[in-house]
Amino acid sequence: MTVSEPTTHVEDSLPELRRSMAGVVLAPAESGYDAARRCFNALIDRRPAVIARCFGARDVATAFDFARMHALEVAVRGGGHNPAGHCVGDGGLVIDLSLMRRVDVDGDARIARVQGGATWLDFDAASQALGLATPGGVVGSTGVAGLTFGGGIGHLTAQHGLTCDHLAGAEVVTPDGATVQAGPGENGELLWGMRGGGGNFGVATCLEFRLYPLDRVVGGRLTYAGSGVRDAFRLFRDLAARGPRDLSCQAILSVDESLEPTLVVAPCYTGSETDPEELRTLRTAAGLVADGVRAHGFLGQQHVFNPPYNEDRTYWKGHFVRELPDELIDELLRRVVALGRPPGQVLIESLHGAPKDGDGSIGAVGFRNAAFNITAMATWQDAALDDPYIAWARDTAAAIQPWSVRGGYLNYMQADEPIERVRAAFGDEAFGRLQTLKKRYDPNNILHRNQNIPPL
Ligand SMILES: Cc1cc2nc3c(=O)[nH]c(=O)nc-3n(C[C@H](O)[C@H](O)[C@H](O)COP(=O)(O)OP(=O)(O)OC[C@H]3O[C@@H](n4cnc5c(N)ncnc54)[C@H](O)[C@@H]3O)c2cc1C
Repeated sequence: MTVSEPTTHVEDSLPELRRSMAGVVLAPAESGYDAARRCFNALIDRRPAVIARCFGARDVATAFDFARMHALEVAVRGGGHNPAGHCVGDGGLVIDLSLMRRVDVDGDARIARVQGGATWLDFDAASQALGLATPGGVVGSTGVAGLTFGGGIGHLTAQHGLTCDHLAGAEVVTPDGATVQAGPGENGELLWGMRGGGGNFGVATCLEFRLYPLDRVVGGRLTYAGSGVRDAFRLFRDLAARGPRDLSCQAILSVDESLEPTLVVAPCYTGSETDPEELRTLRTAAGLVADGVRAHGFLGQQHVFNPPYNEDRTYWKGHFVRELPDELIDELLRRVVALGRPPGQVLIESLHGAPKDGDGSIGAVGFRNAAFNITAMATWQDAALDDPYIAWARDTAAAIQPWSVRGGYLNYMQADEPIERVRAAFGDEAFGRLQTLKKRYDPNNILHRNQNIPPL
């Protein structure tokens, strides 16, 4: 990164910054600063020098300018969910997009135009009002842009593919303050890079998504416990292997109060049958202790997982895998009880169906050929337990590693991942192409608080 010497003190220049911006500027000790510096992961406790809550592309360019003048490291904040806490740094400047959450839906064209700080709750509420949806994330408070730039896996993945596959265009402010459009007709290579290459190239102030009709889904949670967990886990795996296009499915392995394994399977069925065979099999399997599956609107499905914001410390590590053999299932069942206390969870996301329709020509995302994404998600509250929980996640990921394909998921990576893991997520060719793109739009690597792609 190239930084110039600061010309004046940050504090002295804040009044001028405030006058130049339509949005809000927060400095330490000011009201609202503490709430604004928090992110989803309570493990992250950082104090930026300035939080620039932008209100449009001009504010973003002004914030970049201010950071350059004062040699401040830049962080970009959308929904604040990235587990690495990239959205906030110590002593730097945060380009905070949380005032930019507008979503406009054109029902005839089936297009949503979304500001850079919108969350999935904002998106789904606006698109579902017209009976439309795009495949997004499963937790409403997650940022649309951040999730899309890493790929995007959720309740409609089997039906429609990855979120980034439906990104049709974007308005981007690059670190030199220029506003560029990315779309099929203009800067198509930039659009390719934003479909999986993370927030490396600029700040997206507006994104355009294709939408699909979606009314009712059949979904919810199925919970298995006791001796049935192992077979239910295999059943989930076999169902995904059959690849039903109208049924997305995720599973969460955890423990109950007795520290015995439990499995939650979260299906989302969008087909026309009233009693589809795959769901019937899951709902009648041995070990089922709670059946929360029912017909509901898609907004209801988007509340199947509602984790609290900024309460838990978390550390995630995992792998895309080419298969989920019995041996790996047994290993995960051993790992989930290995800590001797509730470890958090292991998330298993199936990538069957529509993700396989695309290839590397659509976007940079490199994992669409994997069978599953498996992630150890350590979750705890007591800071004294940081070491054992982080070790549990790392050891569990190491146990998954022999089946790994394409490394880990950019969206779930912590900040301590080496560049080799980021490179592996794309493969050498796509990574080289991304580095060339980075050189064009951010040659000084100003946007390096992310799963970084250094310029060539
Ligand atoms: C509870 C929870 C649930 C999740 N569920 C899913 C899921 O269902 N599917 C899935 O695929 N992932 C999921 N994720 C992972 C999530 O998609 C990524 O962590 C993503 O980076 C979060 O984006 P954000 O804007 O909320 O986070 P932030 O921490 O605010 O941003 C993360 C990074 O994204 C970039 N960024 C964000 N907005 C912009 C923008 N407008 N312009 C340029 N760069 C930007 C920046 O580099 C920023 O540092 C989940 C994470 C959590 C914590």
